[in-house]
Amino acid sequence: MRGNLLTQIFAAFVIAIILGAMVGPAIEVVKPLGDLFLNLIKFIMAPLILTTLVVGVASTGNPKKLGRIGGKTVVYYLVTTGIAVVIGLAFGFLFSPGSGLDLTVSETEAVEPGEAEGFIQTLLGIIPTNPFSALAEGNVLQIIFFAIFVGVGITVVGNKAQPVQQFFEGFAEIMYKITGAVMRLAPIGVFGLIAPVVGEYGLSVLMPLLKAITAVAVACIVHALITYSIAVKKFASMNPFQFFKGISPAALIAFSTCSSSGTLPVTLKNTQENLGVSNRISSFVLPLGATINMDGTAIYQGIAVLFIAQFYGLDLTFVQLLTVVLTTVLASVGTAGIPGAGMIMLTMVLSTVQFPLEGIALIAGVDRILDMFRTCVNVVGDASAAVVVAGSEDELEGQATEKQSSPSVPM
Ligand code: ASP
Repeated sequence: MRGNLLTQIFAAFVIAIILGAMVGPAIEVVKPLGDLFLNLIKFIMAPLILTTLVVGVASTGNPKKLGRIGGKTVVYYLVTTGIAVVIGLAFGFLFSPGSGLDLTVSETEAVEPGEAEGFIQTLLGIIPTNPFSALAEGNVLQIIFFAIFVGVGITVVGNKAQPVQQFFEGFAEIMYKITGAVMRLAPIGVFGLIAPVVGEYGLSVLMPLLKAITAVAVACIVHALITYSIAVKKFASMNPFQFFKGISPAALIAFSTCSSSGTLPVTLKNTQENLGVSNRISSFVLPLGATINMDGTAIYQGIAVLFIAQFYGLDLTFVQLLTVVLTTVLASVGTAGIPGAGMIMLTMVLSTVQFPLEGIALIAGVDRILDMFRTCVNVVGDASAAVVVAGSEDELEGQATEKQSSPSVPM
């Protein structure tokens, strides 16, 4: 059953590319199928994160352990993002996608600068002044905050809170079932999302920027294959092939939706069922990752900065290069897990080295394509963190199981 769905998603993907290329822009008519699927996965998100994380934290029963898991997660996220920027810059130099290009910058495509909030503001913003509006708005970090406190509260209160724990356990099971049902529509959704993109971008749009697209794609593949393979093998003794196979449905959904937040329900499902990560770890590590861990975005931003520098014939000093590495890590942390967000945050990196912001317009036309690759890596990176942290906490089942002590959904 599980294998079947993956095959179906993949088949839908291939058919979408073929039909999109044959029909051209008119394939736009199938877009509502993609939107249907997108809306369905967004609709699961807030209650799924809340219930699974409350259950996860309540069953951890130990705030110290939670702190340790949090620490490991954040360190892993920062280190892998740092590696991603360096890989991005290396491929930016290697491919030199912006040299010798003959493109004009269109004023209409100018991009509004994005701004990262101050550090203190960002931290304060994690506290939901009203947890119910956090749920209503789908603010993931605030939902995580609320869920952790409710989970710890359940442990501290003990017996009296049992009914609340059971309520959340039951609710989480329901959300898993709904996720399973929505996933059955994934092939249709992937078709509806991919075909219009292929139809819209004919070869003529892609050709001039082929080098930039290839640089981003190759750097993303290299980062995933090398960094994540080493990480899951070394820290969780997991066969990298098993890792990539297990996470591939989420990777394909990420590729199609360009949203790591939107993909979250699928990422949770894959890491638990296919990779054997405990509910506790996955429900904590993954929502956090979908919000702050963006390795693909960091790769893209590194390459884009060099692309723009090369196009305008600007030289980067060593200090500027270091500044780019640091600000890119920050910018990728501040990037929301939604389509196109990484391009907006690129303005932040460009401003720190005083590069022309309008340079973004050069690659804005193909941002959707670049977004596909980077979102895919963003999601796979989150999953690798879940595997690594679970491995180090002894919370990784040797194999995919249908039955787990924590709630799970058969696909
Ligand atoms: N679309 C990406 C994501 O959701 C963010 C980005 O635009 O880089 O992960």
